[in-house]
Amino acid sequence: MLCAGCYNRPVPSRIAPARLHVLFAQEAPIGVILRRGPTRQVRLIAWNTGTDTFDPGQWFKGQIHDWNVSLSPNGRLFAYSVIALSYAGRYLIVSFTAVSRRGSVRQGIVCRMNRKFLLAIFVAVLLLQSAWVVYMQSAKPPGPLRIEKVKGDLYMISGEGGNVAVYVTSEGVVLVDDMFDRNHDGILAQVKSVTDKPIRYILNTHQHDDHAGGDFKMLPIAEVIAHRNARANLVDIKQPYYEDTPGTPIGLPRVTFSDEASVFLGGKEVRAKYFGRGHTSGDVVVMFPELSVIHTGDLFLGRQAPRTGAPASTRPPGVNIYVDYAQGGSFMDWTKTLDGVLSLQFDTVIPGHGPISKKADVVQFRSDLETMRSRLIGIVKASQTKDDMVNILESDYGWRAKGCPLTPPTAGCLQFQQSDAMFAELKR
Ligand SMILES: [Zn+2]
Repeated sequence: MLCAGCYNRPVPSRIAPARLHVLFAQEAPIGVILRRGPTRQVRLIAWNTGTDTFDPGQWFKGQIHDWNVSLSPNGRLFAYSVIALSYAGRYLIVSFTAVSRRGSVRQGIVCRMNRKFLLAIFVAVLLLQSAWVVYMQSAKPPGPLRIEKVKGDLYMISGEGGNVAVYVTSEGVVLVDDMFDRNHDGILAQVKSVTDKPIRYILNTHQHDDHAGGDFKMLPIAEVIAHRNARANLVDIKQPYYEDTPGTPIGLPRVTFSDEASVFLGGKEVRAKYFGRGHTSGDVVVMFPELSVIHTGDLFLGRQAPRTGAPASTRPPGVNIYVDYAQGGSFMDWTKTLDGVLSLQFDTVIPGHGPISKKADVVQFRSDLETMRSRLIGIVKASQTKDDMVNILESDYGWRAKGCPLTPPTAGCLQFQQSDAMFAELKR
């Protein structure tokens, strides 16, 4: 690898057909069109959707991937990630991310690049991208993390992204998930606060980058294990790869399994089981049999207990979930998958997000999910319109279909592709 932000992927040799990708600002009549191909070059075109006028920029002789871009709600900031080939005695893959101010779509990011310039950019990347980051770096700084004891030698790290389980044994540490790429050092520090043993294994609950974004940096020091579908999703780059952090380096797990896998370390067992589709096609639940604890990944999300004195919710039973249809998720299968999870022996739960929970919380979650799903199926089958489904999700369950970012996918937010896919699935 040449730099931390570089992709370790071959540049496709095939010439892609021309295609368009459009981003709309949520709160302004502004769109940005990415026209890619028939070569690998990309042209950005500003679209004033109020006047329906277009402001074409120049061709960009590098790849701006449509799954790796984002437009701020007011349409003034455009975040993008670039990958390009540069030749300097040998070919180099140049990669950087940046945010551009609207108005510089023409003059700034869509500029002519030649070989020398690419090399200059590569140097600039090494110099913290100073010359080319028009506004600011898009990479978020890592947030503070905390660690708490779950039971015995099992701890939970939280604070950003998904919850990380830390199981300490006499021969080393087993982690379940490793958060975002940016949290790597923070996780190492939190583990160090409870043990001097090295991290030996990481089990991924699924491939989203708030859970497995740290794999790339873990691979040199530990073995990463994931369900074969989770790895396949990464290999296919079925984007968005939960684009919280554009340009997250992808670390492919070296070990995969289909139904069940165990790690035995220091006389203890950590067992991962696959029960089917739900949040994605590759969600697994990880058990700590000696402790009767499971880590559910995003198949189950912990809920904060209501504040004392808070008025009782008037909403019908429901759940705030994200069904990642682009990566094999299924609303229809989710309940059945949870039935498999509930067949396990456990009393304590580390959810994908949220506080440490109990088995009864998973039972309630499954029940609310099933109630909501059945009601939505009834509405879809009776009315046959997507709008009715979306209206009910917004009015009765607090989901939002408007004003949602295209990326990252957000629980309770219906991205355009998600509402279409959800409607199609519920209608079947
Ligand atoms: Zn997820």
